[in-house]
Amino acid sequence: MLKYVILFLILFSSIGIIKAQNDTLRIIVIGAHPDDCDLDAGGTAALFANMGHAVKFVSVTNGDAGHQEQGGGMLAKRRIAEAQEAGRRLGVTYEVLDHHDGELLPTLPIRLEIIRKIREWNADVVIAPRPNDYHPDHRYTGVLVQDAAYMVGVPNVAPDTPPLQKNPVFLYSQDGFQRPNPFRPDIVVDITETFDQKVAALDAHESQVYEWLPWIGGFADEVPQDTTERKKWLAENRKGSISPEARKSLEKWYGQERAAQVQQAEAFEICEYGTQPSEEEIKRLFPMLENQ
Ligand SMILES: [Zn+2]
Repeated sequence: MLKYVILFLILFSSIGIIKAQNDTLRIIVIGAHPDDCDLDAGGTAALFANMGHAVKFVSVTNGDAGHQEQGGGMLAKRRIAEAQEAGRRLGVTYEVLDHHDGELLPTLPIRLEIIRKIREWNADVVIAPRPNDYHPDHRYTGVLVQDAAYMVGVPNVAPDTPPLQKNPVFLYSQDGFQRPNPFRPDIVVDITETFDQKVAALDAHESQVYEWLPWIGGFADEVPQDTTERKKWLAENRKGSISPEARKSLEKWYGQERAAQVQQAEAFEICEYGTQPSEEEIKRLFPMLENQ
C-alpha cells in the first residue's frame, strides 16, 4: 500500500512541477556591456522574477574597456563580479560573454553564440537594443540579435543546440535616437514598484555608476563619497521621464486611472522579426500589464 502512496505522491508532484514549468515565462535580455540589461530592463526583469518567471541577462562584451584608470582582465573580473551581484539583487541569472569591450563586431561565431544562448534559455521573449544606437557595441548587439531572430528556429544552424519550437517575440529596449526612425513604445511596463530594486542592481555596478560614467560624462565631482548618500544620488540620477507616447501606451495597457499614477516605466518596441504577438499574446507574455 505504502508503495502506491509513494508512487502517487511522486506522480502528483511531478505533474505539479511540469505545470509550474509550463506556466513559467522565460525572458532573455541581451546587452552589450555588464550593466546595459539592468539599465534597459532592470525594473521589468524584477517584476518578472518577483512573479516567479525566469529571467536571464547576457552581456555580449566583458566590459574590459569601461573605466578611466583600470582595464583589461582585472576590470573584466571586477565587472563580472558586479554583474553577478546585480543579478542576485534582481533575482535573475547574469552571464557575461568573453568579448572585448569597445571592439564588438557582428561576426558569424558571435551570431552562433547568441543563437545558442537564446535556444538554451528556451526564450519566450528576447530583449535587445536597436541597431541605431550611438555606441558601436550596442549597435552590433542589436544586429547580432536581429541576425539570430530567424535562425533560432533553423535546425541546420548551430546544430549542436536544438532549435526552438516556437520563435520568440523579439523586443527592442528604449532609446532616444531619432534616425532612421524614433523608438515606438509598443509595450510600456509600470516599474514604479521595482524602481528601488533596479537602483539596487545599478548600485552593484560600482565601477560604472559611481566611477566610469560620471568621469566620461564630466560630472564625477557630483558623486557623494558616502555609500548611502551615493545610492540616493543614483536613484535621483536614474529617474526617467515618461514621454507623451509612452504615457499613451501605458493608458492602453493599464487603463487611464492607473497610467496617470505611474512614476517610472520601461518601454519596448516589437521587432518586425520573430513572432508578431497579438494583444492577447502580449498580455500573456507580460502578465504584470493585467495587474490593475
Ligand atoms: Zn553599454
